[in-house]
Amino acid sequence: MGNEEQVTIVGAGIVGICCALSLQERDIPVRLVDRGMPGQQTSFGNAGVISPWSIVPQALPGIWKKNPGWLLNPDGPLSVRPNYWPRMIPWGLRFLRHSHASAVGPVSDAMEVLCANSIDLFRRHLSGTGHEGLVVDSCYVHAFRHAGMAKLDAIDYRIRKEKGGTLELIGSDELRRLEPALSKEFQAAVLIKGQARALSPGKIGTILADKARAGGAEFEQIELTSLFKDSNGEWVLKSADKNLVAKKVVLAAGIWSAQLLEQLGLKVPLVAERGYHVGFPEPGVELNNSVMDVDNKVVASSMLEGLRLAGTSEFAHIDAPADKRQQKKLIRQAQKLCPDLNTDQSTFWMGHRPSLPNSLPVLGPITGQEGLFGAFGHSHYGLMMAPKSGELIADLLSGRRTNIDLAPYASNRF
Ligand SMILES: Cc1cc2nc3c(=O)[nH]c(=O)nc-3n(C[C@H](O)[C@H](O)[C@H](O)COP(=O)(O)OP(=O)(O)OC[C@H]3O[C@@H](n4cnc5c(N)ncnc54)[C@H](O)[C@@H]3O)c2cc1C
Repeated sequence: MGNEEQVTIVGAGIVGICCALSLQERDIPVRLVDRGMPGQQTSFGNAGVISPWSIVPQALPGIWKKNPGWLLNPDGPLSVRPNYWPRMIPWGLRFLRHSHASAVGPVSDAMEVLCANSIDLFRRHLSGTGHEGLVVDSCYVHAFRHAGMAKLDAIDYRIRKEKGGTLELIGSDELRRLEPALSKEFQAAVLIKGQARALSPGKIGTILADKARAGGAEFEQIELTSLFKDSNGEWVLKSADKNLVAKKVVLAAGIWSAQLLEQLGLKVPLVAERGYHVGFPEPGVELNNSVMDVDNKVVASSMLEGLRLAGTSEFAHIDAPADKRQQKKLIRQAQKLCPDLNTDQSTFWMGHRPSLPNSLPVLGPITGQEGLFGAFGHSHYGLMMAPKSGELIADLLSGRRTNIDLAPYASNRF
């Protein structure tokens, strides 16, 4: 028999860990299940942007005009592996349907719910750990090579401003003062203020998982092969080593959530939108903020491990090997961004953004599966949306009433 009160969380990425902490704050005991070390998969290698203002969906009006150019450019930010097209086409059509002007407002509102308090919530979770400095205040510097392209009335900036974001357009002199390490090629920048950045997303995962453990969380390091209900109506979490039994399960297994659901006969349009980073452990230069090279759609940030440049959207099967060409491409882009960067040593990483077609995750009960809750599909925003996702899941499981409508995150919305 499973522990009556305990909630079992499948996946100890940043989303699962934040669910655990919020449940513990409501005196609900938790068990985290992961095949690896907490926070060391997708949640390890991201760009570290934590923003209340990442409330702009990926699917925007007119995106369909940009995609072909990006796909045809080998140095572009978007690629699809040839054998992935059959899966990509239906997902892409759904994605494009969400780019209609009438869809953008509601999605942006629902993103805002998950992003608005992200900085405060991270600081609350980190408080008392001795590692409070892992999240620091930051601007988001969107750097442009052509001053004429930096327009505050572009749709993505308009959405942020309409919702209260403080944005400023600066020219090359001011940009030089703010970020001396940036190439002089950059002529202008849009500053998005009131953000934060993670100095080590992987370390944040480790520290917060340790906090959960110190608060009584059990950890099971096993790889689940399936998830099903037994004749007593309890969930069985099956692995090669042992089976676990649970009354309530939160599925927070990132991109791998789809495989576990598929065995229950449930299909969610979750795809592996793979991304890459290169890291420079001895960079010799430092950035003061999160910096996006808008032309190349890559984000750079100085972290504890050195300078990291992250980006690329590559749609491919989960298990397809990393594309080694991405390493050279990202190193070239990093050199163009910061000409004095020391690239003698570099690290290379690939991760899987768990992407649904409308930039919103699944949060809440899985339709028709009593006791099973979803917390997956955070695509480009999983670090910053994790703490609020944890709050919403914990509210739901503790029966706390909130005035937040979970319909935009429903598992059966597609
Ligand atoms: C290049 C790149 C840059 C990014 N930049 C940002 C950014 O700046 N800001 C931001 O907010 N987001 C960013 N993201 C997105 C963010 O990293 C993800 O949305 C987030 O990490 C997803 O977290 P997760 O906990 O859902 O998944 P994961 O971190 O992947 O965790 C899932 C966990 O489930 C476990 N698991 C899976 N299947 C099983 C199984 N069968 N049995 C046992 N365990 C299992 C895995 O081992 C893993 O630990 C970026 C992503 C990429 C790739």
